[in-house]
Amino acid sequence: MTGPDAPTFDLRPNANPVADAQREKLLENPGFGTVFTDHMAVINYTEGRGWHDARIEARAPIPMDPASSVLHYAQEIFEGMKAYKLQDGGTALFRPEANARRFQDSARRMAMPELPEEMFLASIGKIVETDRAWIPPGDGGALYLRPFMFASEVFLGVRPAKEYLYMVIASSVGSYFKGGAKAITIWASQDYSRAAPGGTGAAKCGGNYAASLIAQSEAIKQGCDQVVFLDAAERKWVEELGGMNLFFVQDGGKIVTPPLTGTILPGITRDSIMTLAREEGYEVSEEPYSFDAWCSDAQSGKLLETFACGTAAVVTAVGTVKSADGEFTVGSGGTGQVTEKMRSRLVDIQRGKAPDTHGWVQRLF
Ligand SMILES: *Cc1c(COP(=O)(O)O)cnc(C)c1O
Repeated sequence: MTGPDAPTFDLRPNANPVADAQREKLLENPGFGTVFTDHMAVINYTEGRGWHDARIEARAPIPMDPASSVLHYAQEIFEGMKAYKLQDGGTALFRPEANARRFQDSARRMAMPELPEEMFLASIGKIVETDRAWIPPGDGGALYLRPFMFASEVFLGVRPAKEYLYMVIASSVGSYFKGGAKAITIWASQDYSRAAPGGTGAAKCGGNYAASLIAQSEAIKQGCDQVVFLDAAERKWVEELGGMNLFFVQDGGKIVTPPLTGTILPGITRDSIMTLAREEGYEVSEEPYSFDAWCSDAQSGKLLETFACGTAAVVTAVGTVKSADGEFTVGSGGTGQVTEKMRSRLVDIQRGKAPDTHGWVQRLF
């Protein structure tokens, strides 16, 4: 990385890294979000001084004052992305500049300073390079990267903070599709909203997740895997899951996804799927889709498939939808053809198995 905003990261290697044999054991079956690497990237922000002290250091707990403003007013944003092993043994990121820009958009909405795109990309490149031994070998494995930023100023007054900490941690993750993709059952919440017009639904902030957890636990209680949220104003339009966007595959080759009106998170997977689906000859339309239409179209056979998408689980079929009014099945209740095709189109590009005609794959080494 070069340019005016490309920081030099001070490299302070972990004096006690995990031993090779132990790491290899952890990488055999890493699951999701529990195996962490030896290092983290850190950059400080201070009002008047800007971004400073970019460094890679040993992953460790953060000393924190109990009056740190994030603990009280929740100024916090994050990103989620993966470093993939390519078929030829190399390592690559997928559309990382889109994550950098979305991180800036989230920061603006939360009245936080925007991290320059080059600093974001440099921090990601550095942590992957430093902890490259933690990328699981074999198909489906990846290094999940979690950049995040929070208000670290020690102050209880209510206003945007003057000090922030930006960090990137990395976690070795396995394939979500071990043993084949399984369709999920989702719970349509009629009591709780995730995001309202004018709110923070389009920002990737921890607060949105905090607001969604009660509905998620209701979903689990109802025997479902995930919750789907309807719009807050009319409780009529389907928006998205707690952390994934939705697509509806109709008979006749039309694919619908809800429009980005400010209450839905603009997923990078969503955007990529729209492009790939159009290339495959589908008519892709961003238009509101009601819960009632979802139910009646599934029953009449007009709706063939529904799938959810996001970086963590890539593409997952929605087989059954439950709500307080009953339940319905989409298609066969399993993973449909279009869902499977879109999943493999995307995964093949990410893994360097199919040509990258859009310049989405950024090789690191
Ligand atoms: C992160 C996220 C998504 C998926 O975004 P991707 O960029 O595709 O990973 C969808 N919905 C919500 C609420 C999210 O936080």
